[in-house]
Parts: sequence; C-alpha cells; structure tokens
Amino acid sequence: MRIVEQAESLAPFHRCALVPTMGALHAGHASLIARAASGGRPVVVSLFVNPTQFAQGEDFSKYPRTLDADLEVCQAAGASAIFIPSVQIMYPRGLSAANAEASALQLPRVATQPKLEDARRPTHFAGVCQVVAKLFDMCQPAAAYFGEKDFQQLRVIQEMVRREGPRWKDLVVHACPTIRESDGLAMSSRNRYLQPNQRHNALALSRALTAAQAGARAGMDIAAAQDEMQQVLARHELVVEYAVIRSPDTLLPLDTFQFAWKLGARALIAARLHGVRLIDNADCGQA
Ligand code: AMP
Repeated sequence: MRIVEQAESLAPFHRCALVPTMGALHAGHASLIARAASGGRPVVVSLFVNPTQFAQGEDFSKYPRTLDADLEVCQAAGASAIFIPSVQIMYPRGLSAANAEASALQLPRVATQPKLEDARRPTHFAGVCQVVAKLFDMCQPAAAYFGEKDFQQLRVIQEMVRREGPRWKDLVVHACPTIRESDGLAMSSRNRYLQPNQRHNALALSRALTAAQAGARAGMDIAAAQDEMQQVLARHELVVEYAVIRSPDTLLPLDTFQFAWKLGARALIAARLHGVRLIDNADCGQA
C-alpha cells in the first residue's frame, strides 16, 4: 500500500476507485473500501480533515486523528494507496482564500433547500463540495464511494457530479449502506465522544427510524409517523434538531396523501446528546 502526500504522485492511480474520508476509520469506512476493492480497480483512500467544512465552534481541532490505526484499516480492507494531503497541498493560497472560494460556490439545490444539515451547518456543504471536487480533480477516479450514513451529503455529491457533467468524465458515485453496531447505533467517528452511560440514549436514533419504518408499513399518516419519531427521541434526553420524513431525491417534504410512502421516503434525524451531535437516517419507502 502506497502512502501519497503530493497530488502529482497520484498520476499512476488515475481511474481508481476513490473513498474520501476524514480518518478515524471504523467498520463503516472499511465497508466502503472493501466495496470499492470489489470493483477490481485500485482503491485510493483519502484521509483529510477538511477545515473548510467545519464552522467556528465545531470540532475541527479536536476531531479524532488516528493515523496508525487508519493505515491498518485501509490495508486490511484492500486499499492500494492512501492519500494524506496537507492543508497546504489542498489549499495552497491559504485558508482565508479557501473559505472565500468555498462561500462563492454555486451549490446544488439539495445542499440549500431542505433545511436539514444545511440549516444547522450553513457553511458545511460548500466546504464538502470544495474538498470533494478537489479530490476528484487530483485523483481523477472512475468511481467514488460514499456512505448513506451522511444521506444529504451523498445526495449533494451525486447532484454535483451530475451537474459538472464532463469535468470528471464518466465518474460513477456509489452509495453504500450504513454500517451499525450490533445494537443498532450507526457507526461514526464521533461515537467515541459518547460516555458509556450515554450510549443507551444514543440508541433512540435507530429506534426512532425503526418506528418510522413501522409507521410506513402500517400506512400511517406521514405527520403521525414523524410524531412517533419525536416521541421516541424525547424519551431519551435527546435535543432534537430535526426528525423528519422526506423525499429521498429532493429531501423536501412529501405530500401527505395516503400513498405518499410508495413514491419513496427517507427518515432523517439529527439530535444532540450532552453536546455530542448524532445523525442517522433510513429508507422507509414502500416502492
Ligand atoms: P467521514 O470520515 O465521516 O467524512 O466519512 C467518510 C465516508 O464514510 C462518508 O462517505 C460517510 O458517509 C461514510 N461513513 C461514515 N460512517 C459510516 C457508516 N456507519 N456506514 C457506512 N458509511 C459510513
């Protein structure tokens, strides 16, 4: 497995399968790498904690950095190369210029209209689009792998690639399912911030999603299914930012007529537990 720090050294890996990450890797990331490797192309994993997608007061400086363990995860899952660029390599004109450049980007509608992550983290998707576009330019991948765990991010990247057309040739974005702990908690680099006695309450997210899926199966009204989610979350000391059921394409609210579920639906939650921000989502369509 090669360790690459300069963009020029990526030339032998053009047309690779790319897995962009911020490190602190866990089994969710490993599943993306293994899925990418199964496509037969060399797999490049990028490890870069991107400053432009964190707002002031978010956890950029304390985001976990676990390079040695990350290299082992990449090797075991079948990566061919790890790209570990510095901030200087990614943003040679400096961070102020990079932030200004990010804020000038034209983002896809799914990054600005749903009022989900975009409302809670208003500068986040500009930074995500900026860094992912740079990684695509540098790696020129044939395929890129993203997790459904960050569902709005996945939709934003899919739309960005569609909109940019020939810029990345025929790049295919693959959506990979969320990997969970055995008790249902979605794996996340931020789970390590949870105290052992808080874990029980964190399980409310996956339970609320299960309640939404049960509501869909029972043909429940969408508003009533959203109420069920809220109730599960409220019983577990979670401060809810949103708990909604939306179109899986636009992430906008669904019509509330009886058969709306059949057109596809995604339940999405963000909630805080003693200062730790957790997100999760699940398909609850009846297509
Ligand atoms: P991150 O390092 O958090 O930026 O995540 C890198 C990639 O891994 C993103 O595409 C995430 O959606 C994906 N990912 C994170 N957690 C999981 C998980 N539990 N299951 C599947 N994919 C995940």
